[in-house]
Amino acid sequence: MSPAHAAWATCGRPEAALPFRHRLAITFILAIAMLVPSHASSAAAPPGDWGTVQLLERVIAPGEKRKFSYQLSRTFEGSFLDTAVFVARGARSGPTLCVTALIHGDERNGFEIARQVFAATDPALLAGTLIALPAANVHGFRTGSRYMPDRRDLNRAFPGSTGTSNTALIAAIVFGTLREQCTALVDLHTGSFERANLPQVRVDLARPEALDLARHFGAAVVIGGAGPQGSLRREMMDAGIPAIIYEAGLPMRFEPQEIAAGVQGIRNVMIRLGMTAGQATAPTPPARIFSRSGWVRVPVGQGGVFYPVRGLGEDIRTGEIIARIHEPFTDERFDVPSSRDGFIVGAAVPQVVFSGYALVHIAQP
Ligand SMILES: [Zn+2]
Repeated sequence: MSPAHAAWATCGRPEAALPFRHRLAITFILAIAMLVPSHASSAAAPPGDWGTVQLLERVIAPGEKRKFSYQLSRTFEGSFLDTAVFVARGARSGPTLCVTALIHGDERNGFEIARQVFAATDPALLAGTLIALPAANVHGFRTGSRYMPDRRDLNRAFPGSTGTSNTALIAAIVFGTLREQCTALVDLHTGSFERANLPQVRVDLARPEALDLARHFGAAVVIGGAGPQGSLRREMMDAGIPAIIYEAGLPMRFEPQEIAAGVQGIRNVMIRLGMTAGQATAPTPPARIFSRSGWVRVPVGQGGVFYPVRGLGEDIRTGEIIARIHEPFTDERFDVPSSRDGFIVGAAVPQVVFSGYALVHIAQP
C-alpha cells in the first residue's frame, strides 16, 4: 500500500462516505503534504553539505538513481495518476534540471528523449539533480490521446487547483512537485494532430535566464513567446523558474532524428548548468531566432485532400503557393497562398482537411 493509500486507510471517515469533491480536496492536501518535506529537507541542507533529496516520500542519496511511481490516491473510478518519476541525485552539489514529457499524451518523442537522457546519466559524474516526468499524462500515453481522461488539456491547467476537475488537481500536484524542486525546466512536445514540427525551442525572449537555456540547447530554430495561459512553461516562468519547450516531429511516433536532437539538447543544457562535463554542440549555421509565428489555414469554404507544396525549413513569401487542396467531388484544385513572409517551422502531413484547419506554421522575425 502506498503512503497515500495508507493515509486513507487510517482516516477517521470511511472513504466511500465522503462526497467526491471532498475526496479530491483531501487527495490534494495529502499530496501537498507529501511534497512539503522534500522542499524543507533540501532547503535545510547547509551550503556545501550535499545530502539526500526527498521527493514524493522517497529519499534519494547522492550518487543514486531511482525510478518510482507517483502512486497517488484514487478517485472512485480507479487510479488516475500512477506515472513514473525518474530521479538521479549527483554525487556533487549543483542545480536541479527537470524534464517533462507527454503532458500531451500523444506526443511520444518526448518520452524517448527523457528516457534516453536519464539512462545516459551517471550520478557518480553528475553535479546536481536530474528529475524526469517522462509520461505526465500517462492515460494519454496508453490511449494515444492528447487529452486527459476528462477530455481536458493538461497543458492549459497549470498551476492547477482543487475542486474543479481531475485535470486541475493533477496539474496542481505536478506543478507543486516541479516548483519545489526545479532550478530549470525543459518541457518536451511534438506537433499535434498530424502536424510535424521542425525541431525548435520555444522561449520567452524577454526572460534572459530562459533565453540562455534556449540558446545553449542547440536547436537550429528558436521561437519567442510567453506561451498560452495555463501552460507549464508559462506558469513555471511566472513562478520564477526558467523554462523552455523543445518541439520536434509528429505525434504518435518515435522519430530517431528528432529524439537524438532532443537528447543532445538536454545534454547541452546540463553542460551549460555545470551539471555534467563535456563539449556542448552548437547549431551550424547559428540558430535563427524568431519573435512570433502564425498559421496559414484552409480558406473558408474550401476543403478536401491536402498536399503541401512547400515544406519544413523553407523560407516563404506572402502570396507564394504553400499548399494545394483537391476538392474530391469536382476535382477542382485550390492553391493556398501564404498569408505572410517567414520560415516554415510546422506543417500538416497530407490528409483530408476542412475550412479553418491549420496547415502551415510560419515563424517571423
Ligand atoms: Zn504538446
